[in-house]
Amino acid sequence: MANSIVKVQDGYNHEKMTEDLRILQNTSPEIEVIPIGRSVLGRSIPAVRLGTGPKEIHFNGSFHANEWITSLLLMVFIERVVQSCNSKTSFDGISIEAILKDITLWIVPMVNPDGVELVQNGFLTDNNPYYRTVLEANKGSTDFQNWKANIRGVDLNDQFPAYWENECNRRETNGPAPSDYPGPAPLSEPEAQAMANFTLEHDFQLVIALHTQGEEIYWGYRNSEPPESQRIVQQFEKVSGYKAIQNVDSDAGYKDWFICQWQRPGFTVECGKGQNPLPVNQFWSIWPKTRNIMLASLFA
Ligand SMILES: [Zn+2]
Repeated sequence: MANSIVKVQDGYNHEKMTEDLRILQNTSPEIEVIPIGRSVLGRSIPAVRLGTGPKEIHFNGSFHANEWITSLLLMVFIERVVQSCNSKTSFDGISIEAILKDITLWIVPMVNPDGVELVQNGFLTDNNPYYRTVLEANKGSTDFQNWKANIRGVDLNDQFPAYWENECNRRETNGPAPSDYPGPAPLSEPEAQAMANFTLEHDFQLVIALHTQGEEIYWGYRNSEPPESQRIVQQFEKVSGYKAIQNVDSDAGYKDWFICQWQRPGFTVECGKGQNPLPVNQFWSIWPKTRNIMLASLFA
């Protein structure tokens, strides 16, 4: 199906997302866009609200820069919801308009806009204040395809106060790097702070963090996950064919912190298969599986 607003193309970045959100907002009263903070380089991090129901659910994408295809997955999802509400038609057989009277869905499509920009376009100028840090962290290379971190070389999904010290000891990275550097302290980075504050200000019953790649769903954390997480992840497996994995040797991630803090279901979904960044021509094969997981979460 062709998309009218969000174009599934290479180079999807903060500028395109901002423009798409502006257009989507103009086409529909169903959607509200609220800035939840700013990146290191001052880019606004928007959260998109869909629906007005009492039960709050949250999805996010692009915590990791070279996993930017997850922003596109979320933006296409947002557009399909809006289309469905506007035209009073179903979304994959589901009356999304009715569901959004019971649920409020909060989507942060791009947690790490500076990192995404770096992967997409490199440095356009050398007057970027982090030019030297980034270049050194990348061992002098201007190829940033392996870059996951924010623009200060901090891995935003290693920043959360859930056994952060353990993560520091596990990762043998002591300074800015393309990935795996947990930063000088938990929540030292504005993007991670924005996500933590946003989460604390809401009452999310379930969260999904989209990453790539591996076709796996991580659903446990140090035995803090509630019993229903298992039932929900089995549902996700069924609708996607992805493999559920309870525990991985990792701490300080967003979903780890969410599970730890609230003992509610939190999931990291590793979309697609291959080498990051996944090529955009994989989008339409990843889309139905990820869409099914997101839709299933609304009935969890
Ligand atoms: Zn990731």
